[in-house]
Amino acid sequence: MYNPAVDTPTYAKLVRDVVDFPEPGILFKDITPVLADRQAFTALVDDLAEPFAGRIDKVAGIEARGFILATPVAEALRTGFIPIRKPGKLPWKVVREDYLLEYGQDSLEIHQDAVAAGDRVLIVDDVLATGGTAAAAVRLLRRLGAEVVGVAVFLELGFLDGKSALQDVELHSLVNYDGG
Ligand code: AMP
Repeated sequence: MYNPAVDTPTYAKLVRDVVDFPEPGILFKDITPVLADRQAFTALVDDLAEPFAGRIDKVAGIEARGFILATPVAEALRTGFIPIRKPGKLPWKVVREDYLLEYGQDSLEIHQDAVAAGDRVLIVDDVLATGGTAAAAVRLLRRLGAEVVGVAVFLELGFLDGKSALQDVELHSLVNYDGG
């Protein structure tokens, strides 16, 4: 039976809160101490992947910290990996989705041949905040005909209610900061 090596409080203790980064008013969740810890990193990858074992054809990672987690998750699930990137980074033909940020907007792109119709895809990112980024990734994959099975994130900033942007998708998060 699957037995996680690291529990939620231990994960939470390893995450470093950085005040006012990258701009005033943001409490940035720095996951680099988790990545640097051999036991925690291995457990993190297993914990993200495990609920989706046997149900996924491809894992999509969102630039840039999503790549760090999505690639080992794809390896753990024995699937391919798909990059979802900021505009202008992917070399081949792309489709693009715009989404709103707190101030302004941003976009994500995916190669138009990244998935086959009906592929079962898991989206992986480090943090779910307002959910705008993950929701744009869901829209991109659906436009290409994929079935989005779920979104797996390490940290969910529950007080920002990103879950409501992903109502029709299975959301799996390892640590939820409900109270801010
Ligand atoms: P959102 O679209 O609001 O859900 O924001 C999610 C994206 O922004 C993810 O790709 C995260 O890496 C990043 N992000 C948002 N808020 C934070 C935060 N407080 N700490 C670290 N990363 C964040």
